[in-house]
Amino acid sequence: MKQLTFIAMACALALTGCATTEGGSASGLSSVSAALGTTSAGGSGASKSENKLGAALDVFKAATVSDDELKSVALQYRAYGDRTEKLAPANNKYSKRLARLTAKHVNEDGMKLNFRVYLSKEVNANATADGSIRVYSGLMDMMNDQELLAVIGHEIGHVKHAHTMGAMRTAYMASAGRKAVAASGGAGARLADSDLGELGEKLLNSQFSQSQETESDDYGLAFMKKHKYNVKAMEGAFRKIASLGGKQAGMDQMLSSHPDPGARADRMRDKAVDKK
Ligand SMILES: [Zn+2]
Repeated sequence: MKQLTFIAMACALALTGCATTEGGSASGLSSVSAALGTTSAGGSGASKSENKLGAALDVFKAATVSDDELKSVALQYRAYGDRTEKLAPANNKYSKRLARLTAKHVNEDGMKLNFRVYLSKEVNANATADGSIRVYSGLMDMMNDQELLAVIGHEIGHVKHAHTMGAMRTAYMASAGRKAVAASGGAGARLADSDLGELGEKLLNSQFSQSQETESDDYGLAFMKKHKYNVKAMEGAFRKIASLGGKQAGMDQMLSSHPDPGARADRMRDKAVDKK
């Protein structure tokens, strides 16, 4: 599974729009060779191959960043987000609602999680590798409690399957901040706010792949079943997202038009009645 995530990220780096084909790749090898530009199928121009090769080299360098360094970066990035977004105070009505819904999930499936609200009209939610999940008040306005839990289950899935770690690895490797850390001697170094801001832009641009989204949808549905929540709420959440008509774009593709939220709603409707 770890290998799959690694390949998915390589794919995301090397080929824009590959999300539609990467899920169908039977073996990771074809993705890797495509990323390396070593495919002999021809057709792609020299500069494209060079870009792919450069991206692939970045990925191999990425493998040399330790998990501890990445966790430190994720914590710093989240602290920066909490400082620069409008973090709702604990006594805010949104915070109280989210705390009520998530109190039993702070230790979930072997993970230590924390949940906070950003006060913003954005319909969005995101998760980082340190186990922080943030929900925007715009999303909370739109979803009932069960639908909100379904979105939260989906976000927990991104943490559980290490998608957040993979995204952070990719973004960090391409960031100026990492070069600064490397120049100053490595792990443990503090990143400047400007570097953390740039890292955030890279995270926004390197969205999760379609297969990662599907994996998190399934995790979210299993989460709903496990806790005896309303299993139809995942479908409901996607219907509402679909009604936005793709006007929203965030760090997480659950809340954007691609992959198509209507199709994902159908899939969740069908899987909700699955007894597995
Ligand atoms: Zn997602």
